[in-house]
Amino acid sequence: MGPIGKIEVWLLLGAWVLAPAAGRPVPVPGAESTVARNALFAQSAAQLLRREFQSRDVSFLLLDARTGNLLASRWDDLERPIPLGSLIKPFIALAYGEEHQFRYPAHVCKGEAGGCWLPRGHGEVDIASAIGNSCNSYFRMLTASMTSADMVPAARGFGLDAPDPDLSGPDLIGVGNRWLISPEHMARAYLELNRRRDQPGAREAVAGMAQSAQRGTGLEVGRALKHSGALVKTGTAACTHHSGAPGDGFVVALVPAEQPEFLLMVRVHGVPGAKAAVTAGLMLRRIEE
Ligand SMILES: [Zn+2]
Repeated sequence: MGPIGKIEVWLLLGAWVLAPAAGRPVPVPGAESTVARNALFAQSAAQLLRREFQSRDVSFLLLDARTGNLLASRWDDLERPIPLGSLIKPFIALAYGEEHQFRYPAHVCKGEAGGCWLPRGHGEVDIASAIGNSCNSYFRMLTASMTSADMVPAARGFGLDAPDPDLSGPDLIGVGNRWLISPEHMARAYLELNRRRDQPGAREAVAGMAQSAQRGTGLEVGRALKHSGALVKTGTAACTHHSGAPGDGFVVALVPAEQPEFLLMVRVHGVPGAKAAVTAGLMLRRIEE
């Protein structure tokens, strides 16, 4: 065990010891083994990710999906708001739903003609498949008459940095790279989304993320996992590294899909989100093993 690993274990145990003071349930006898197991998992996952994914092009963040504890990270300026592209889409869906009794329109994506990234188009899409395929045409339609003000309640409810007051339409779905959000805030917003997965809006978003891993932009994550499914959302945004590339790819994955135990967020320099999913898949497979 390296010095870093030891510190992490103690941080985790410390968080557990302090938990009752924070109003959480007092651990029952026997829970120690669970805590010890979780600490071991966190320690080995952290070591493994640091050892095997050393490329400076890869940033990552691993959270315990149940407690929200930060298990491992290598991400400079985790707090600094940056463009995160389509990672915002599930929260757009929730904001729209709040204002429309959670009734979502159907839509036909004609590809380039409708401003979608997929030239041939996605054809008929509903809210879940629009999230699964990250269909820009669907979300352009959904946000056609939305402004920053429509997003404020959802942003507040999920702990996301609020958009500048002058954004509207495509700016809101990440197309113009104008809504800046801290990567850590975004990761935690996905944990909250998962906590609400039985509620209207969140239910559709989670269904879309399951589709993403099965046949959408997160397919490479789904393919990599042998023993469990995942909830995935990908995104592509303007690069914020010093050695600028056309864009950076982002992935948020919650595993296992039915009852997530951890959340992995990955950024890969210079590739689109669907390609970053290959890296996220490799990481998750190693953690799974
Ligand atoms: Zn589309």
